[in-house]
Formats: sequence, C-alpha cells, structure tokens
Amino acid sequence: MDLSIVAPVYNEEENVPLLHQAITAAVAPLGLEWEVILVDDGSSDGSLEVLRRLAAEDPAHVRVIELRRNFGQTAAIAAGIDYSCGEVVVLIDADLQNDPADIPMMLEKINAGYDVVSGWRISRQDDLSRRLPSRLANGLISSVTGVHLHDYGCTLKAYRREVITGFKLYGEMHRFIPVYANSVGARIIEMPVRHHPRRFGKAKYGLERTVKVILDLFTVKFLSSYANKPIYLFGGAGIVLIALALLVMLYLFVRRVFFGVPVLGSPFFQMSTMIAILGFQSILMGLIAELLARTYHESQGKPTYTVRAVINLEPQERESVG
Ligand code: UDP
Ligand code: MG
Repeated sequence: MDLSIVAPVYNEEENVPLLHQAITAAVAPLGLEWEVILVDDGSSDGSLEVLRRLAAEDPAHVRVIELRRNFGQTAAIAAGIDYSCGEVVVLIDADLQNDPADIPMMLEKINAGYDVVSGWRISRQDDLSRRLPSRLANGLISSVTGVHLHDYGCTLKAYRREVITGFKLYGEMHRFIPVYANSVGARIIEMPVRHHPRRFGKAKYGLERTVKVILDLFTVKFLSSYANKPIYLFGGAGIVLIALALLVMLYLFVRRVFFGVPVLGSPFFQMSTMIAILGFQSILMGLIAELLARTYHESQGKPTYTVRAVINLEPQERESVG
C-alpha cells in the first residue's frame, strides 16, 4: 500500500460523500495503491450510514472505523493511523475545508525526499476570532519547539510512515506530530494549501481549544527535549536554585561580618533556605524522572536514536511500539 488518507468524521453526513469523490478524483489518476480511512467519531447524525454505504460502493479503497462514542478529533486520527498501512499517511479534515486536490502535490514533495509536508492555509476561511488565537499559538509553538511552521492547526499534512509511528496522541496533540517527527530527524517542508469555508454542518470547536493546545505544548516540549534526559531539566533548575540560595547567603554573611546586621532577623534568611531546599528537591525529582525514563525506553524496546538508512547492512526490524 502506497498511500493512506485518514479523515476523522463527526457529524459530517453531507460532506463525506463529496470528500470521497474529491479524494478519488485527486488520487485515482496517480496510479498508486491507496486507501481512505474514515473514522466515525461517535456521530449522532447519519454519518455512519453514509460511511457504510461508501464502504459498500467502493470496497477497494474505503475503510471505515466506528468508534464507540465521541472521543475527539485527535483520538479519531490516532485510530485511523493505527489501522492504516500506507507508506505515506495523509491526514485531512472530513468537512471539505481542506481540499483533497492538494494531495498529489504533497506526494511529490514526499517523493522528493521530505518526510513531512505540512499544509499551510494561506487564505484561511474562518472568522478572525479563530484566526487570531491560532496565529498566536503558531508563533508560540514555533518559538518554544524550534520547529517553525505557520499553521500547526491545519490538519492536511502528509507523513512518511516511519516518522509518525511510536508516537502516542493524547488531548489535542495531533497538531504536534511535526514536532515529534522533527525530534526523530524528519525533513519537514511547508506547502501552501487551499482552504474553503464550511458548506455543510457546524464547526465543533471554539476558543477553549487554544487553552488546551497551550497546555499540550508544555508536555510536547518536555517530551521532545527532555524525555531522554530529564535530569538536565530538573537538575539544571536545581543547580540554578541552589546557586541563587548560596548567593543570598553570601550577601547575608557579608552584611553580618562587615556591617553587623543580624542574619536571623532578615527575611532573606528564610528565603535562601527555602530556595536551597527547593533546589535539592528538584535534583532528587530529576533522578526519579531518570528512572522513569529508563523504564519507558527499556520496557518498550524504544531506541534512543532513529536511523534513516544503512549501507551494507540489513535494516534492523525495530519494534515500533508507542
Ligand atoms: N471531528 C471529530 N471529532 C470531534 C470533533 C471534530 O472527528 O469531536 C472532526 C470533524 O468531523 C472534522 C475535523 O474533525 O472532520 C475538524 O473539525 P472542525 O471542522 O469542527 O474543526 P475546525 O476546522 O474548526 O478546526
Ligand atoms: Mg473545519
């Protein structure tokens, strides 16, 4: 299988047949082996019946996954990826705001050697109330993670399979897949894509999503930068705190010896002791985190490196458990 297209579906009964048509029109001429995986995320309208019909009409390409209830877009995408088997995985929204006609160009970029092609909705057709927070979030994510993308929120992205397996998706995290991919050494390129206003159905999200995204960013930053060596973060913070405490104590000492100001009367004394204790605690927490990191990597056979290619060697079949 060359290509798997994964679309999460939640109450999109009018959109799904058109999506199927548009995907077929875009992908069929390429002469690839392809599949489209439609994940019903507990829809309460007629989406599931429509999906069943499509699967019956086009059994060679349409796969349907029916989740037991509404788990959210990220979980639906994760299910689709788990069941997919294409060498390239394309994620796309089912509401026709993304345009399947962009897929062939994305595949060209993948063939040119990129591992991630990140769609960028240059003329985004949503309200300012959606575009503005998204702009801020994109800037924040880019500067925190060091992976500079204009549009993390655009679902339409293409991935070479190797760079997305082994990553579990929680919360709103599907938008952070490029960050994970970058941490395993993927080559990433951005590509402007079309974006259309919603014609049928309703948007499922509002502003509260931005808060979740920012919280997820903490996790992602921690996991991508420190999951291997948590002591660098905790221990680093610990050393800074202890150094700060020592400085304050030195100040108190100098004041006592040269100016005769009593140490015990100063609030700086309690402060410095507290900061020192915090510093030690932080280092100890780092050590516990180190134990956890070892359990995480070793119990699951997760290597601490990723290989792009080997020469004169058999590629090693690595278990890609997440
Ligand atoms: N979606 C889903 N589960 C949900 C919410 C949304 O599978 O709980 C799907 C929805 O059907 C659509 C995609 O996720 O295919 C994006 O949803 P929406 O268009 O509401 O988000 P927006 O385009 O506003 O980011
Ligand atoms: Mg949408």
